[in-house]
Amino acid sequence: MPRIQFAVQSSRRSEVLDITDEVSAKVAAMGVEQGLVCVSVAHCTCALYVNENESGLVADTLRLIEEMSQRNDWRHDRIDDNAAAHLAASIIGSSVVLPVNGGRVELGTWQRIMLLELDGPRRRRVTVQVVADGS
Ligand code: ZN
Repeated sequence: MPRIQFAVQSSRRSEVLDITDEVSAKVAAMGVEQGLVCVSVAHCTCALYVNENESGLVADTLRLIEEMSQRNDWRHDRIDDNAAAHLAASIIGSSVVLPVNGGRVELGTWQRIMLLELDGPRRRRVTVQVVADGS
């Protein structure tokens, strides 16, 4: 089963990073004609989602997260002051599954694979694993 990992370095506390090109290149290199790709992060304070990489939408996404973090009564904050990061990661999710067709990740015209850093700056590891049809 083809599996590749790569690292992403965030540079801010919260930040959205477009990893579509890197994921697409990894999948293309695996040579799987048809199947599914699972993209995942093995972390509790970053998330993956698929949506448009439009600057206003990215700013709105970060604003939503910022509004969550403005509450000062999250219980986990007593441990390491990053409850909002954990909560947003739980809600958004740590993986996305997409179809692979013709050896390529199938995405809509405006869809991008976005990594949402919630407690950076940190080095994040992204796993790209493809399951071929019939395997
Ligand atoms: Zn924590």
